[in-house]
Amino acid sequence: MRPHLQQWLSPGLGIDLGTANTLIAVLGSGVVVNEPSVVALARDSRRILGRGTAVGKLARQMLGRTPDTITAVRPLSEGVITDFKLCEAMLKYFVRKAIGRSHGFRPRTVIAVPGRISPVEKRAVFHSAERAGAGKVFLIEEPRAAAIGAGLPISEPVASMVCDIGGGTTEVAVLSLGDIVVSKSSRIAGEHFDQAIVDYLRRQYSLKIGQQTAEHIKISIGSAWRLPEEQTYEVRGLDIVSGVPRKAIITSEEIREAMMRILEEIGTCLREVIEQCPPELISDLAETGVILTGGGALLQGIERYLGEFLGIPARADDDPLTTVARGTAICLEHLPQWKPVLMSDSGSL
Ligand code: ADP
Ligand code: MG
Repeated sequence: MRPHLQQWLSPGLGIDLGTANTLIAVLGSGVVVNEPSVVALARDSRRILGRGTAVGKLARQMLGRTPDTITAVRPLSEGVITDFKLCEAMLKYFVRKAIGRSHGFRPRTVIAVPGRISPVEKRAVFHSAERAGAGKVFLIEEPRAAAIGAGLPISEPVASMVCDIGGGTTEVAVLSLGDIVVSKSSRIAGEHFDQAIVDYLRRQYSLKIGQQTAEHIKISIGSAWRLPEEQTYEVRGLDIVSGVPRKAIITSEEIREAMMRILEEIGTCLREVIEQCPPELISDLAETGVILTGGGALLQGIERYLGEFLGIPARADDDPLTTVARGTAICLEHLPQWKPVLMSDSGSL
């Protein structure tokens, strides 16, 4: 079969390369890979454990729990690639998982990347994806993919606003007539909520807990607005003074208070984007509001909080953890329509 014909017949891949989670959607099959962006390495050789298989879920379990000889790392942090080699190895593992080894076809691939990544990092993503088995590779800005995945009418002459709160970055953009009119990428995101909880327990309870425990507390009882019924959580940690493990009961009000400064920073970031919009678009936004995507959109009460903070409606997408991946798949499906706004390695680099 001729190579270009092979490409058109092969399933396309849409990849959301996130700081916390990597998702891969296969055209026609939906999201087939949804795993943490983590790899586990032998500390001395820096080889990935389990012959290159300690990637994703398995590696995540090791985060913060590794003995001295092992280290579990995230190849992306705060929206930038901190380790190119590991990022490539991780991508390769996930792409293989999505399409299988024996496939032979090189699928067209659309990859959503954080807005903060540099041209050098973009080039690295292109080459990593190609080495991982992808055919023609296109990159798309994460907020644009989020807006497409959320079904916003971004090609129309009306303002669409999207805010993706991930693990390491928050990406905000206002789009109209197919273009990003204003955008901002902030380093304040999900992991900062976790850190704020770690700090709070240390300060108020002299209790040392890990980031993973903090994340669990956030997901269980965290909130951005008063809950209909406030909740409690029994947390185990290490007493900083005595050095002995102990428990404490914390409330959802306390956790909300601990996270409030981070919420305000996210709200301020959104407000700055709105302020930079032309007046006509601002008046659109009063009606259309902002759509929230990414894991942070799952925080209880965040729609209400941001709605009150900004004075425009805020609504979370139905399945916010997969919005970006679904957006990349829609781009693939309608490639001729979206191609002009995608970055290719022969294009805008
Ligand atoms: P990224 O795009 O950076 O990979 P994701 O969109 O996958 O990030 O979101 C991951 C973040 O969402 C993590 O910080 C995680 O703790 C947070 N998260 C996931 N579920 C919830 C929840 N129910 N409430 C609050 N935060 C959540
Ligand atoms: Mg993301």
